[in-house]
Amino acid sequence: MRALRCRECGREYPLAATHVCEFDFGPLEVAYDYESIQKVVSRERIESRPENMWRYRELLPVAEEPTVGREVGFTPLIKADRLARRLGIRELWVKNDAVNYPTLSFKDRVVSVALSRSRELGFSTVACASTGNLANSVAAIAAASGMKAYVFIPADLERSKVMNSLIYGATVVGIKGHYDEVNRLCAEIAGKYGWAFVNVNMRPYYAEGSKSMGFEIVEQLGWKVPAHTVVCMASGSLLTKIHKSYQEMIGLGLASEGRYQVHGAQATGCAPISSAHKAGLDFFKPVKPQTIAKSLAIGTPADGFYALKVIRETGAAADDVTDDEIREGMKLLAECEGIFAETAGGVTVGVAKKLIASGRIPADASAVLCITGNGLKTIEAISGHVGQTHEIRPSLREFETLLESDSRLTTTK
Ligand SMILES: *Cc1c(COP(=O)(O)O)cnc(C)c1O
Ligand SMILES: [Zn+2]
Repeated sequence: MRALRCRECGREYPLAATHVCEFDFGPLEVAYDYESIQKVVSRERIESRPENMWRYRELLPVAEEPTVGREVGFTPLIKADRLARRLGIRELWVKNDAVNYPTLSFKDRVVSVALSRSRELGFSTVACASTGNLANSVAAIAAASGMKAYVFIPADLERSKVMNSLIYGATVVGIKGHYDEVNRLCAEIAGKYGWAFVNVNMRPYYAEGSKSMGFEIVEQLGWKVPAHTVVCMASGSLLTKIHKSYQEMIGLGLASEGRYQVHGAQATGCAPISSAHKAGLDFFKPVKPQTIAKSLAIGTPADGFYALKVIRETGAAADDVTDDEIREGMKLLAECEGIFAETAGGVTVGVAKKLIASGRIPADASAVLCITGNGLKTIEAISGHVGQTHEIRPSLREFETLLESDSRLTTTK
């Protein structure tokens, strides 16, 4: 880690808790000294380390050994043959962050980086503006490391996501408004209080944590960058960082050079990035979110501009799916692979299905789907849309009656 650098003008800043350029308000990004990193990293060195995201620590923005979230990451990459057949593609992989440790979403990656770095910079109170999963992650990981946490969420989030923040003892503030209003308030609070806001003043460090998902995909594929990756987008940060992770792997010689596309997925009810891409624009128009994919409901995506750039530059596609298609995507993944993803996963699967059907992802290709969160957190979205429990008395006769009607039902299906 060498400096913070403005993505617009390239001016460099010290490695402090800041996130915007003073000259043009461009976002700051962590810059690395790749020459010295090249001297110390190798496939063998990485493979010899424990199976967590910190096996790539030279490419993550901490100065010392990480102190927070040391067990996070290295989630399974599943070869999804049954889903591949259903979607009509030769080879399909699922990167399953629905089982990321400890709070079952990829946000544990960004939070362990943000909190490790916050510690290094001397903070003892952390905070975030969240669509749900980030709040869970900040609350849990702050508790485990003895830091005080304030989490700000839209008041109408799924119950599981609210409970999953409260249980750790964090101060949970529900804002009557949507995420963009939560975020605006948090920017004001961050300016006034000396807290580490993981996705405001700590954003340059925080965002880098997402790269670990891409590093793992490359390593788990045998040090190969996949030709197609489908990523769901809220702020668009994860998509840009998966791209950056592939670039770094290639740049450092850890993966071989090759063409790849990083496709973006959104919910039709909040699709500022995919709409802009489909309209051939390089900027997005803010929208008011209305979707069951609450974790992706950001109408003014902070990294939307850069996500559009990655999609364009890798020759990729972006698309969006309706709430019904999201539920269908969740069911497909569950029924084919036994993976229960949250609504955001339904978005990824639904958009992948569309891109394969239209030939944007060729049928003879290989693709990776990034599953980012767990279905147990978004039960509301599917209740009334899955089968029902068959209730009987504890009697063999009643069970056999049920079995008969059940087999009649299945044979007539
Ligand atoms: C936050 C989140 C995303 C996307 O995050 P961005 O980096 O803001 O695009 C995707 N999936 C889930 C489940 C999330 O919680
Ligand atoms: Zn600048």
